[in-house]
Amino acid sequence: MAGENDKEAGSRLLFVEAEPWEHDRLVQKCPDACEVHSRPAALQEIADGDIPPGLTVLSTFVHSRVTADQLDRLGDLRMIATRSTGFDHVDVAACDRRGILVANVPHYGQDTVAEHTFALLLALTRKIHRCHERTVRGDFSIEGLRGTDLAGKTLGCLGVGNIGERVLRIAGGFGMKRIAYDVAARPELAAEMGFEYVGPAELLARSDVLSIHVPYNEKTRHMIDAAALAKLPKGAIVVNTARGGIIDPQALVDALRGGHLGGAALDVLEGETDIGEEAEIMSSSYDVETLKGIVRNHALLAMPNVIITPHVAFNSDQAIERIIDTTIANIHSFLSGAPQNVVNHPAAVD
Ligand code: NAD
Repeated sequence: MAGENDKEAGSRLLFVEAEPWEHDRLVQKCPDACEVHSRPAALQEIADGDIPPGLTVLSTFVHSRVTADQLDRLGDLRMIATRSTGFDHVDVAACDRRGILVANVPHYGQDTVAEHTFALLLALTRKIHRCHERTVRGDFSIEGLRGTDLAGKTLGCLGVGNIGERVLRIAGGFGMKRIAYDVAARPELAAEMGFEYVGPAELLARSDVLSIHVPYNEKTRHMIDAAALAKLPKGAIVVNTARGGIIDPQALVDALRGGHLGGAALDVLEGETDIGEEAEIMSSSYDVETLKGIVRNHALLAMPNVIITPHVAFNSDQAIERIIDTTIANIHSFLSGAPQNVVNHPAAVD
């Protein structure tokens, strides 16, 4: 790669959650002076002996839990380059204390995630998944497959950042009324696009479709709880392509079971990484909350008015290419002494 310099020489990079095809791409794009390693597993699943010593940079996706304990295994690591927009899987405070810089990919997927948001919403409102199940069996009957229109409905957008903005633009194309709440409103954007900012209570009271696009943090954890769900109009639909933990999962199950909610379309679930790991969790020392989470998620999976995708909203060819390019640029700029896309405040270390 052009532009490499002495500072990059000898830097050792580890990409975790990286498939073999990604390794080749990363080696091609990383500065030649760097030593590149990759592992397909998430950080917490990698044995100590499989972690190269003397790492400069760790790059993860969202399934690695970069806790203080995990950082203890990584020696004098200097940077974490997450290949995602969200960085709630990284203990940023622990990185700050250790002087480890954290960089993310802020802009790769606004269209990608917004398009998936509508893929989910349309699949739910037009029962596409159930139609498909029927036709592959050669059954072309239409009983029970009537859907509802989006045109004329009100879409409430929680969080109008990169993705929320694109969702509002697409909603306009469907002829939906558009309202939004954001802690940092952009009135000029609302004026240009013709949507209306409202307060959080009004957002809930008026949303036929509530679409969630805020980051996950201590302020947004379980922000959509039982009280919030109760404020939505009866029959409303909740779409979540942000992070599972923004919704209180028990409240969601209750609101769907009780019939207040019309449906949910979810790309993300709290505890999503535990699904499929039940056998392992049962055979080790498990905690009751984890098991309850698994049971709740299975309850959601079994509901006919719920559609779930396995955290794939980001996963398009174009977005993956942009993620890799920005991650390499983040690493390169850090090693060159002019870091970009930094999300934390690392303490100075000697
Ligand atoms: P962004 O930072 O551009 O926008 C987030 C918006 O939320 C900002 O406008 C911010 O002011 C607002 N906000 C923050 N806290 C709020 C609060 N408490 N109440 C109201 N508004 C609040 O982020 P983005 O690029 O639009 O991404 C949003 C989230 O989507 C990410 O944080 C990430 O978790 C998630 N995401 C998911 C996938 C996926 O594959 N499912 C892919 C990319 C991003």
